[in-house]
Amino acid sequence: MSKRDYYEVLGVNRNASETEIKKAYRRLALKCHPDKNPGDKEAEERFKELSEAYAVLSDGQKRATFDQFGHAGLGGQGGFSSEGFGFGGSPFEDIFGDIFGDIFGGGGGGGRRGRGRRGDDLRYNLSISFEEAAFGLETKIQIPRHHACEPCGGSGAKEGTSPKTCPTCQGAGQVRYQQGFFSLTRPCPECSGEGKIIDNPCPECRGAGRVRGKRSMSLKIPAGVETGSRLKLSGEGEVGAQGGPPGDLYVVITVKEHPIFQREGQDVICEIPVSFSQAALGADLEVPTLDGKVKIKVPAGTQSGKVLNLSGKGIPVLQGYGRGDQLVVIRVETPTHLTSRQKDLLEEFARESGEDVHPMGKSFFDKVKELFG
Ligand SMILES: [Zn+2]
Ligand SMILES: [Zn+2]
Repeated sequence: MSKRDYYEVLGVNRNASETEIKKAYRRLALKCHPDKNPGDKEAEERFKELSEAYAVLSDGQKRATFDQFGHAGLGGQGGFSSEGFGFGGSPFEDIFGDIFGDIFGGGGGGGRRGRGRRGDDLRYNLSISFEEAAFGLETKIQIPRHHACEPCGGSGAKEGTSPKTCPTCQGAGQVRYQQGFFSLTRPCPECSGEGKIIDNPCPECRGAGRVRGKRSMSLKIPAGVETGSRLKLSGEGEVGAQGGPPGDLYVVITVKEHPIFQREGQDVICEIPVSFSQAALGADLEVPTLDGKVKIKVPAGTQSGKVLNLSGKGIPVLQGYGRGDQLVVIRVETPTHLTSRQKDLLEEFARESGEDVHPMGKSFFDKVKELFG
């Protein structure tokens, strides 16, 4: 899937100011906003593309990354995958609320006549193993959350009755006080800003319109996630009040530490201890990888700290192609608890050892001699 340049999407040049970017976004977003083009798939796609471009270019840090590395630099960030998950970055609704709040909504908490409040977003922390992060997994989770009360259909009013419009504010949820030249708007005291009054509350939810429950759902974690990766499940958050839209659910990943593997970007690092004689004489070793054991050859004369590369044995790229490498770091172990026979052998070995046997030592002491005489 090739992506258009974010500046091109917004129709601004590369050194556009923050204000120019915001202006361009408002102008274009108003044109293709889904509310204005119901059922128009193309407008919807365009709107998504715009929001994504704006999410990146309005954030100084992301913009700098994009300027330097293009789409690749942002990885999955700020993107919207086909499943509707966004990894990192600001969620769609943030921008939506931020920009459209003041265009369509008309002033903060009030003015939401006939429109229920959006439900809260929920965060679910999911701890997974190193291997699960590498290869992805399917799992079931249970989310404690509210859902619309069944008997009253979420209205909060007893079955067969319905909430009535608040007579004090006529359903606006706020009242206006006039004092000379000044006018002041306040949440309506009669209905606490809800705009509706329930005379006969539903006994099941005591008028709240929602009840606590649990929702189990299956979750597909893609390969390549890491600690801090965030999956967004649109509409799976708390149910909205009075028929408002539901919030979103964010699943935040924590990857457990692995006893022998460490991760660095897409690469897996693994330290392998080898004996001093194995390092000197060379050896065939079996090393663990994410795909099981792999045979490697440690060449004769291998020094401690040497890194051997197992190409393609690393972590798959999140929402992309290919895998990183496994880097095998050789640690030469100095023998301990020697028997007297082993001591004798080593002493004999030391007497035999000349400069040719220890090339690193030779060059180091040559340098010392040069510097200090
Ligand atoms: Zn009222
Ligand atoms: Zn109810």
